[in-house]
Amino acid sequence: MTAPIITIDGPAGAGKTTISRRLAQLLGYRYVDTGALYRGIAWKADRAGIDVDDERAVRRLLEELQLEAVWTDDGAMRVLIDGRDVTDELRTPRISMLASRMSALPVVRQCLLGLQRRLGREGGCVFEGRDMGTVVFPDAAVKIFLDASLEKRARRRYRELGDSGQRLEEVREDIRRRDENDRSRQLAPLKMADDAVRIDTSDLSIEEVLSEIAQLVAQRQ
Ligand code: C5P
Repeated sequence: MTAPIITIDGPAGAGKTTISRRLAQLLGYRYVDTGALYRGIAWKADRAGIDVDDERAVRRLLEELQLEAVWTDDGAMRVLIDGRDVTDELRTPRISMLASRMSALPVVRQCLLGLQRRLGREGGCVFEGRDMGTVVFPDAAVKIFLDASLEKRARRRYRELGDSGQRLEEVREDIRRRDENDRSRQLAPLKMADDAVRIDTSDLSIEEVLSEIAQLVAQRQ
């Protein structure tokens, strides 16, 4: 029997990355950050200066793109584009917004669907994203939907960005727009799977969220 897959979906700033990484460590599973794959494609498109509304140009970019995920000894996922580790360049507001726009394109989603399923083939993974429980792994053993109020999510992201120069209002507006894009796109929109468990992290600590999920995983095993 292959080891289970756990999916963690939800809007930006709900705590998915911290929780998914910690959960994977706790269970000895592999952590897969699928947002970083979308960001990797956006990074390449930005570099190439292509018009993301030009479907043929995007298609060509994807055909030529070599996108790989590799893991460090401490379980962090790194993204390689054409052999170069670009992970540290992916979390800028510019790439966030471009990734959100590009993630609505069917060619982009199709390209990543295959890669994500290949990464999960052997099980024993925590997948973090937007459509993990609904589209990519509909049979996952445990599905979590992490949510929090817009204000809480904006404040968390603001703290994470440190001295990036972005004001709290700008961070809040970026998150709000990105969520709106992600929820309203036709293909694989951000939504909770029918069989997912929703956890509102607004007033919970990381430890509380982790312990709730760990209990669920134990119950299902
Ligand atoms: O999770 P993260 O904020 O890094 O994701 C960046 C963007 O990639 C999201 O705003 C979303 O548009 C897209 N994404 C997606 N499906 C996923 C993961 C991310 O559409 N499974």
